[in-house]
Amino acid sequence: SKELTGNNYQFYTSGMDRQTLDGVKFVSALYRAVDHQEFVIYYQPKINYLTGEITGVEALVRWNHPERGMVLPGEFIPIAEEIGLIIPIGEWVLRGACEQLKTWHNLGFKDLDVSVNISARQFEQRNLLHTVNSILEETGLSPGDLELELTENIIIKNTEGTLKTMEQFRESGIKIAIDDFGTGFSSLGYLKRFPITTLKVDRSFLKDVDSDYENTAIATTIITLAQNLKLEVIAEGVENQAQIDFLLSKGCTSMQGYYFGKPQSAEQLTNLLLLGVKT
Ligand code: C2E
Ligand code: CA
Ligand code: CA
Ligand code: CA
Repeated sequence: SKELTGNNYQFYTSGMDRQTLDGVKFVSALYRAVDHQEFVIYYQPKINYLTGEITGVEALVRWNHPERGMVLPGEFIPIAEEIGLIIPIGEWVLRGACEQLKTWHNLGFKDLDVSVNISARQFEQRNLLHTVNSILEETGLSPGDLELELTENIIIKNTEGTLKTMEQFRESGIKIAIDDFGTGFSSLGYLKRFPITTLKVDRSFLKDVDSDYENTAIATTIITLAQNLKLEVIAEGVENQAQIDFLLSKGCTSMQGYYFGKPQSAEQLTNLLLLGVKT
């Protein structure tokens, strides 16, 4: 009836108003967070299963919100990307992660590498290469200690510019991983043209990998593809022994996931480096 439609409409608009207000509040809180540096970097270990060693860490940002506590990146990174705040946040993460890696190198963990997630908007910044190189210089790290994790949507968005920037990164020795590999909409052809060092098997393909026929097929294919292209391959989201057995049977020995360690504070990760992970 007309009445009902009217009510629904009313309900809907007031719902939207509330959302928009929340949105405005959220955005201003995010600006404040950048000013006040309310972010923290957590680190998740990447391990070589054969040696049991932690070979690297992935830097994962959190927002330590004064009232809400630790807010996960899924809640604010997409918005930060939309409004451009990903640029200062991303640079802060890059610098913080490199400084922390230097601290670990100084503690004697000299082979440890760090991986940092770079969003499309950040990658399009003309001065990203310069920023990264200055941070490496400031912190005294080698380019080979740093890996940038990019998603396939970066490649679709701006093919020529992306190719050029990637080549410059590779020429300077920085590694490039394709994150969430297989979940994007790009064609495989880019693997020929782009100077990629690593494929990260998306964790969705490892779900029930021992029983899910499609996932087994896809994960196997990605690992084989990486091996045939002489790229490094790492599996993310490893949570159980069945997944480990599967990965080892395919020759994929680099792993990352809750089984070995959740994203954790720098202090906690230092302890893990000292104690070692269980494999
Ligand atoms: P991602 O790069 O794919 O990071 C992996 C996500 O999977 C992390 O979520 C991590 O906590 C989670 N994870 C790791 N191991 C397991 C596991 O065994 N099981 C399950 N269920 N999950 C696991 P997180 O930290 O919430 O980050 C979410 C996403 O936010 C990241 O996905 C990345 O796209 C983005 N992100 C995080 N930090 C940054 C950053 O500094 N810059 C940018 N641009 N994006 C970031
Ligand atoms: Ca990542
Ligand atoms: Ca290294
Ligand atoms: Ca991922």
